[in-house]
Amino acid sequence: YLAKGNGGGVAVYDPTKDENTTERLLLLTQLHDALARDQLTVYYQPKCDVRSGRVVGAEALVRWRHPSRGLLGADQFIPLAESTELITQLTLVVLEQAVAQARVWLDQGRRLGVAVNLSVRHLADVRLPEQVDALLRRHRVPPALLTLEVTENTVMTDPHRAVAVLAMLRAAGVRIAIDDYGTGYSSLAYLKRLSVDELKIDRSFIIGMTSDDNDQIIVRSTIDLGHNLGLQVVAEGVEDAASWRHLQVLGCDVIQGFTVQAPLAADEFDTWITAWEANGRLDAIGDLATV
Ligand code: C2E
Ligand code: MG
Ligand code: MG
Ligand code: MG
Repeated sequence: YLAKGNGGGVAVYDPTKDENTTERLLLLTQLHDALARDQLTVYYQPKCDVRSGRVVGAEALVRWRHPSRGLLGADQFIPLAESTELITQLTLVVLEQAVAQARVWLDQGRRLGVAVNLSVRHLADVRLPEQVDALLRRHRVPPALLTLEVTENTVMTDPHRAVAVLAMLRAAGVRIAIDDYGTGYSSLAYLKRLSVDELKIDRSFIIGMTSDDNDQIIVRSTIDLGHNLGLQVVAEGVEDAASWRHLQVLGCDVIQGFTVQAPLAADEFDTWITAWEANGRLDAIGDLATV
């Protein structure tokens, strides 16, 4: 069997691709229902000050309580949602839950930032800044507590529009982070023009930094670049104490990763943070001295 490939050439017919399409369609239909049936839930992963270990905020990461497949991670349905308009609705659901959670934390006396990931379609949507502004007002959450994370590629898809939307968001007081930094296609010229607040170094460099000299050089240079541009630098995917220690030495500002805590449901997060701030944090910091 031969079928036309996307590149205009010929590709060998692969029956599993067809199954894939059927499965994708099914998942898409189910995701549509999931939005209406409240099956999407937000998990929170702490972002900590690299020196003190204090929690400064959390990243909101969507999960799907699928009726038959269990809890699905973002990677299992976000790319699919991003290929359709569904992603816009999904992101608004996540934004709503995340901002409401920031309010809950404020009411508990915790001033924690919350970060939400944005997709391409949203960065081309000039209604977004007003929607975000209304949301923050409704929940009485200071705009500086909300960070929106965008990747370089998201921005570069329609840079002109993205620069405008991000500028409006920033004018409203919301923070902007460049996510997965170092993996996409952007130039330093854009980074400068974007006027962002935070640079998140992609976890692929962080995971390799204790064993690969090149990764270490990239991490070190990116921290310096970010600081020279006046940005806060965050390392994502910090999996062990040795990497955390190293990032302290390099002067990174904030860490996020399994060495602190994997993403948790909101109620689990509350239990976790209480224990972390009571003694877990000091234990972790103490352990760093020995690595
Ligand atoms: P991201 O924004 O780079 O989020 C970080 C991902 O790394 C999360 O995966 C997190 O669980 C995982 N992670 C955290 N610490 C570690 C670690 O120490 N080691 C390793 N190996 N991984 C770690 P998750 O939750 O599966 O999300 C995957 C991606 O899906 C996110 O990458 C983000 O781009 C996207 N995503 C998640 N939630 C949303 C959302 O609500 N909207 C949109 N548009 N995208 C989302
Ligand atoms: Mg992110
Ligand atoms: Mg990331
Ligand atoms: Mg990532």
